[in-house]
Amino acid sequence: MARHFSTHRIICWRLSRNCNRACPFCLSVSGPHVRHPAHDPFAMADRLLALKVAKISYSGGEPFEYPLLPRLVEHVRSLGILQLVTTNGDRLSTGVPAWITSFEHVKLSFYGSRPVHDRLMGAGNYDRQLALADRLIGRHEVTVGANYMLSAESVAEVGPFMDDVAGHGFNDVLFQTYIHNRRTHVDRTFALDDPRTAIARLREALSGYAGRLPGGMKVHDYSRRDWFIVLDDAGRFTLPSSTLEADFVMGRVTDDVLQVGPGARDSAGAALEAIWARRYGTDAIIDLA
Ligand code: SF4
Repeated sequence: MARHFSTHRIICWRLSRNCNRACPFCLSVSGPHVRHPAHDPFAMADRLLALKVAKISYSGGEPFEYPLLPRLVEHVRSLGILQLVTTNGDRLSTGVPAWITSFEHVKLSFYGSRPVHDRLMGAGNYDRQLALADRLIGRHEVTVGANYMLSAESVAEVGPFMDDVAGHGFNDVLFQTYIHNRRTHVDRTFALDDPRTAIARLREALSGYAGRLPGGMKVHDYSRRDWFIVLDDAGRFTLPSSTLEADFVMGRVTDDVLQVGPGARDSAGAALEAIWARRYGTDAIIDLA
């Protein structure tokens, strides 16, 4: 199995687009005024198990703002599905619940090194994320990684950021190419002109950091399409893209038949298997060691 996979049978579950923040660059256009979905997440988790999902990566919105998260995490744990969560860290910075250890992995979001990140997320936020990582690792023995948004500005900033995360005991870093949210003026500011060139620059900038993180470094290139399954807050499986094209909708989580491409349909289980096979073979996940 390729090194960048602990499993390829993964889905990203955008639980809710509710968030305590309203970042203009948010890929899911989340915010405080978005209502939590009314559907039953426990039945959805059962359905995911039936579809042979092995790992759920929770995102949002902010997963820790979702009121059913503690019960859902317990339920999913009882099903034997692995779980990881990506968070802005705001709630966890005020207190870490005991059930945090149910996650295989907690990922803290970063948008640049200290000056860029703090300009976007507020003064002192970068250091709060590092202090949170210290607590999660030191007191709760949680595996902590970083998600780093690769934008036109942040791509040049990775050196100081890597020194910080390596010094604070992070396990790994996932660099993610900026995903358009179709707010044109915002996208123009943050989008990478040429993701492949940016990734080549990143590889060069990170050449001195190989081996400093036990879990390594990788890039997700979302300008490559149709390899990454998202369960959105409306209960649909989608294949998102960082281009300006609309996300491809496979169908609803409860559907017996899903689309795997325009005009191509298959049973739900076979459709997910087809995308996971694509994920397994994709060159959109780039291992930086
Ligand atoms: S913190 Fe994350 S989920 Fe919330 S609005 Fe900002 S980018 Fe979106």
